[in-house]
Amino acid sequence: MVAEVLVVGGGVSGLACARALAAAGRSVRILDRARGVGGRCATHRLLDMPFDMGVGFLHGQDEGFLSEVRASTERRIEGWPRRVEGSGRPCQPEAFRSGEKRIALADGVRTFPKHLAQGLEVRTAARVERLVLAAGGAGVILEGGEEVRARHLVFALAADQALRLLEGTPDLPRPLAAVRALLDTSSSEPSLAVCAAYPEGTAPPPWDAWYPEGSHVLQYLGNESSKRQPASFVGLVLQAHPGWSRQHLDDPAWPEALLAEAARVAGEWAGHPVAHHAHRWRFARSDLASELAGPILVRLPSGGSVGFCGDRFAPGGGVEAAWVSGRELGRRLAAPEVS
Ligand SMILES: Cc1cc2nc3c(=O)[nH]c(=O)nc-3n(C[C@H](O)[C@H](O)[C@H](O)COP(=O)(O)OP(=O)(O)OC[C@H]3O[C@@H](n4cnc5c(N)ncnc54)[C@H](O)[C@@H]3O)c2cc1C
Repeated sequence: MVAEVLVVGGGVSGLACARALAAAGRSVRILDRARGVGGRCATHRLLDMPFDMGVGFLHGQDEGFLSEVRASTERRIEGWPRRVEGSGRPCQPEAFRSGEKRIALADGVRTFPKHLAQGLEVRTAARVERLVLAAGGAGVILEGGEEVRARHLVFALAADQALRLLEGTPDLPRPLAAVRALLDTSSSEPSLAVCAAYPEGTAPPPWDAWYPEGSHVLQYLGNESSKRQPASFVGLVLQAHPGWSRQHLDDPAWPEALLAEAARVAGEWAGHPVAHHAHRWRFARSDLASELAGPILVRLPSGGSVGFCGDRFAPGGGVEAAWVSGRELGRRLAAPEVS
């Protein structure tokens, strides 16, 4: 059966959009290239402990967003990080503005998107390669050549990923060519990240999060074990500054360089984990200077529509913006005049 709405991207924005549509009785299907949902709300298990290797904690002020986060689990730590060291620039400075609520999830931040995905039709391992336009709607071509169609299509992706898909489509109608030009006005920041597990007996650090001011390499050290209840060993997530990450994206030695910098900044012990896992985020955060006020929905000349949501499509960026923009786009698409 052809779904009314096809959402490309099962991160927080795509899931929030699909939930709003499903709540309004619309049929909706989600495609994601990964093995599970969540996108950059990502938790990796290392030696059986969850490590948040993308966003480390959730934060925001929107009441709807906060109550959805709280509904996702009772195992949460309100106010985390409480013990914050260093005066370096956080990845998302809004996290520490007044009135902002901060919440860590004891079983990992991916608990939130997994909660949002409940009851939704999600197809994973489905990488979209390009958009196709046809009379009465739109569709996508998946890796391997399969075509999936719908009346309405939503791109819930990092803005650069949405741009790449539009660039791969020849002869875009004018409204979509205009969106392509708009998306081309910014670029996302990369982030190189390492999850590190330390030997039994390592003393837990006296901070939850550290933003070192004296490093051009390390932006954030997150004390993962202080979120886990209980934690059997000390675990850190190390995230590099966007500028350093950009320079070292294709350097195979970057994980060792990040660990060496952790040893310099936090002490020798931090450079010698018993196990580690490295992850390269090409598009970690959208460039805050170019955020948009809301999601975009364009009608196609041939019928149907194409929408765009994600962390660039609401003020403030980050997970809250992804959720807010997704919900807003879902509500617009569910309106009776968009059929
Ligand atoms: C290291 C790091 C630190 C961060 N720190 C913070 C922070 O402190 N505070 C904060 O609020 N936010 C932070 N963020 C950003 C936050 O995680 C994102 O803004 C948010 O999760 C974006 O959600 P989204 O749904 O817009 O996009 P995503 O989560 O990227 O979801 C997009 C989905 O689309 C899928 N996809 C991509 N291309 C295709 C394709 N071609 N076909 C099919 N599927 C595709 C992906 O697999 C993914 O699941 C951080 C991110 C990273 C990586």
